Amino acid sequence: MRLLFIFSRSPRPTSILATSRLSSLSRQFSSTSVRMAPLPKECELLVVGGGSGGVASARRAAGVYGIKTIIIEGKALGGTCVNVGCVPKKVTWNAATMAEAVRSDAKAYGFNVKEITPFDWTTFKHKRDAYVKRLNGIYERNLANEKVEYVYGQASFLSKNEVEVALHDGGKQLIKAKKLLIAVGGRPHYPEEVPGAHLGIDSDGFFDLETQPRKVAIIGAGYIAIEFAGMFNALGTETHLFIRGEKFLRSFDPMIQDKLGAEYERVGIQIHKQFAALKIEEVDGGRKRLHYKGPSGNHNDDFDVVIWAIGRTPETDRIGLENTGVATDAKGHIIVDEYQNTNVDNIYALGDVSNSGHELTPVAIAAGRRLGDRLFGGKKDSHLDYTNIPSVVFAHPEVGTIGLTEPQAREKYGDAVKVYTSNFVGMYYAMMDAEHKAPSSYKIVCAGPEERVVGLHILGQGSAEMLQGFGVAIKMGATKADFDNCVAIHPTSAEELVTMK
Ligand SMILES: Cc1cc2nc3c(=O)[nH]c(=O)nc-3n(C[C@H](O)[C@H](O)[C@H](O)COP(=O)(O)OP(=O)(O)OC[C@H]3O[C@@H](n4cnc5c(N)ncnc54)[C@H](O)[C@@H]3O)c2cc1C
Repeated sequence: MRLLFIFSRSPRPTSILATSRLSSLSRQFSSTSVRMAPLPKECELLVVGGGSGGVASARRAAGVYGIKTIIIEGKALGGTCVNVGCVPKKVTWNAATMAEAVRSDAKAYGFNVKEITPFDWTTFKHKRDAYVKRLNGIYERNLANEKVEYVYGQASFLSKNEVEVALHDGGKQLIKAKKLLIAVGGRPHYPEEVPGAHLGIDSDGFFDLETQPRKVAIIGAGYIAIEFAGMFNALGTETHLFIRGEKFLRSFDPMIQDKLGAEYERVGIQIHKQFAALKIEEVDGGRKRLHYKGPSGNHNDDFDVVIWAIGRTPETDRIGLENTGVATDAKGHIIVDEYQNTNVDNIYALGDVSNSGHELTPVAIAAGRRLGDRLFGGKKDSHLDYTNIPSVVFAHPEVGTIGLTEPQAREKYGDAVKVYTSNFVGMYYAMMDAEHKAPSSYKIVCAGPEERVVGLHILGQGSAEMLQGFGVAIKMGATKADFDNCVAIHPTSAEELVTMK
């Protein structure tokens, strides 16, 4: 019978805040191993997925509005961002940036750096893992503090208000809810049609690498591929980037594509264009032979590691979604309106699993908090405005972008578009030889007679930190004159943005 199980003796709690009745029953019976059906749990809001969006939504509902909320997480609290995304990625980017500083920059500033201390990838990786683990614990404690009940297991929908959880201790738990939030995110995509594709790893596997590859192939043209390529190269790995077309970061402004492409080639990243994967096979010593088609025919090359970074698949195909009647688009994303409503009453979706676009942690968090305010806080119109969302690529150097690209602006506003650009070398590089100077390139895209800033694209050191403040201004409708009216901070790179002619 589906709901029969033996209460586990596992020290791992199935729920950190089990209702007192259930947990005392559980304790009572675990000592005698009596077989019994678990009591179904019931709640007002059931959140499936304990990642960025799910945790934010659950905490808002329970912590702020006192709603009886249960959250189910199948792997690790914090989801993609904390475990295999933003957090360990940024820590690795910090290490890569430090490598550049030690290798070239410090010497240029008069430090007697005789040789680079070899980078100890393994020690770094274990410290990074420990940091992520600490964050998992903080997430768990935050849920407990806000009185969100946490169930650790894999959820599957039975109907539009019932979920069965395959608990990590082997049992099963039925949960009924008045409202369901689906926040299960996505997973890296593998090209099943390429023979041997699984000899490559994906972005999750990147964070499992125990040793630094000497030579790596990264396949993909999106921001994850570009970030990985920049980090490996800066850390001293021979880096090959394979892209389908002529350029990477195809949804970005052409200036970013051109300048970053040129910079990556300048610093020694080998970019293979017009690439199509044919197969991967394992060769001597566990190395991977990548067979591929390029503009001049078929080739192959051997790598320590091949990484697929060719996009992500929404996690909708193995959660019993068909039992809910919730509709998805052609790519499997759950179709939502601007209020995160699905086509089924009382079922909502947000973050990477939804078709809202902008697969970013702060987007999932913001959507989740606003949804909580709308459903439980009486704020009837609360929803996330998906326009002008700033985002950053932690490339080498960094890229920041918000609003329309120049081609998008020209399509929307026609001749009423005015563009300002600036290309320069930041003062940080003043002491360095030409080969160690990284470029900065900025573009402001304005529209209409008042020159409202509708797009901002910046590449160069410090861009990530710089963009947030300019994002506020652009969200408020700033014009080029508003930019110019702000007195420059000197000497910085950011001052270029308020002095552009
Ligand atoms: C390499 C990489 C780098 C990134 N860098 C950045 C960055 O710098 N900045 C940024 O803003 N974004 C970044 N992102 C994107 C960001 O991680 C996601 O946009 C964000 O995590 C989406 O949040 P979410 O809540 O929608 O899904 P997730 O965070 O993916 O959470 C979904 C959760 O649901 C769980 N789950 C799935 N199915 C089930 C089930 N059946 N039962 C129970 N639980 C389930 C999963 O285990 C997961 O924990 C990066 C992503 C990657 C892969």
